[in-house]
Amino acid sequence: MKYAIINGRILDGTEDMVPQSGLAILIHDEKIQNIVSDNGDFSDYQIIDLKGQYIMPGLINMHVHLPASGKPKKKQTDLNRLVKIVTSCSLLRMITRKMCEGYAKTELLSGVTTLRTVGGIMDYDTQIRDRIFNHQIMGPRIIASNMAISVEGGHMAGSLAYIANNAREASHYVEKIAKDQPDLIKLMITGGVLDAKVKGEPGVLKMPADYVHAACDKAHRLGLKVAAHVESPEGVKVALENGVDTIEHGAKPDKYILNLFKEHGACLITTLSPAIPYALFDREISHATEMEQYNGKIVFDGIVECAKACLENHIPVGLGTDTGCPFITHYDMWREVYYFHKYCGVSSAFALHTATQVNAKLAGLEDITGSIESGKAADLIVCQNNPLEDLQALRHLEMVIVGGQIIHQPQVKKMNDIEVQLDKFL
Ligand SMILES: [Zn+2]
Repeated sequence: MKYAIINGRILDGTEDMVPQSGLAILIHDEKIQNIVSDNGDFSDYQIIDLKGQYIMPGLINMHVHLPASGKPKKKQTDLNRLVKIVTSCSLLRMITRKMCEGYAKTELLSGVTTLRTVGGIMDYDTQIRDRIFNHQIMGPRIIASNMAISVEGGHMAGSLAYIANNAREASHYVEKIAKDQPDLIKLMITGGVLDAKVKGEPGVLKMPADYVHAACDKAHRLGLKVAAHVESPEGVKVALENGVDTIEHGAKPDKYILNLFKEHGACLITTLSPAIPYALFDREISHATEMEQYNGKIVFDGIVECAKACLENHIPVGLGTDTGCPFITHYDMWREVYYFHKYCGVSSAFALHTATQVNAKLAGLEDITGSIESGKAADLIVCQNNPLEDLQALRHLEMVIVGGQIIHQPQVKKMNDIEVQLDKFL
């Protein structure tokens, strides 16, 4: 298939992007073939006239858990039990995998043309990645982790993460996970807001340093990067000192931590979306206890401060939603981009650049996607208004293109009660 996309205002994904007009984006099969003046001869191409709409690279969501919808529950679900049930027989396993495939498709229809998973059920992430890659189902490009590694009583232990009881086991689990050829390894180094037992102590260190070291060492030997769930300064130190490549979420950093980031060439994946409901919602809405709200605020502030300090110190910062957490749906990556602009004080252009070109680089895809350049994948989204003026423009898309495949007027089914609550924070 050959398409010539004309009359669009191009936001190319680069740091200093400004809308560019008078150009045609030529797409041949899966790739952007060229970007040329739009008064050429395109008789070989099927013409797509954008009539002045905005076109930019597809969004990249760096922190996704495919097995949950984000629908909030009044009571915390027993994840272990739930995962045990849904993996107990082949029929339920197939239904669960199909559900995850549906969520991946929702991400795509909301403008996410690439997503990175950081903890899933069994080997579903790699299965779904491959099914999409082989055009068996429609979905975004997936960078897959499969199950994570945690410790007894640790974050997602036994549900989306294996339980390692010593450093040797941590290393063994890396080997076991690597057999399904994932793209990264995920560790759960600290607890999360819901795991906290003490007011003022969210993100308590759970995984001992020698486990982290052994897991990172094995992963690196196998050519895999390591991402780690970390929500306290102590956790960040242990993670970075022992070889973790990306800190997911983050915590209030000091000089030592910032130096560790630089020394090890590590980066941060900011996730503002999951912290907002706990920290800022009315407790009646979030169903959080007073302690969860208090700890949620510490985590939220820590994530914001970590992102700001990393940006100031030229440490790469990417963005993800932590989809699957309460109130975090598979169609709200645009909100994370919006929050990054609002709470971390970056320009709309920089927020969009982060969700596209920067995220592509941090996912190891800088030569493949993340910007509008010839040779890159034709991963593009189109919206009516200028997102540089208001990022809410990304909320309604006119078109999503993934690997040259065009989806006109993409529609996702939204949970309206969640929309109403989240909109209060725009
Ligand atoms: Zn997560």
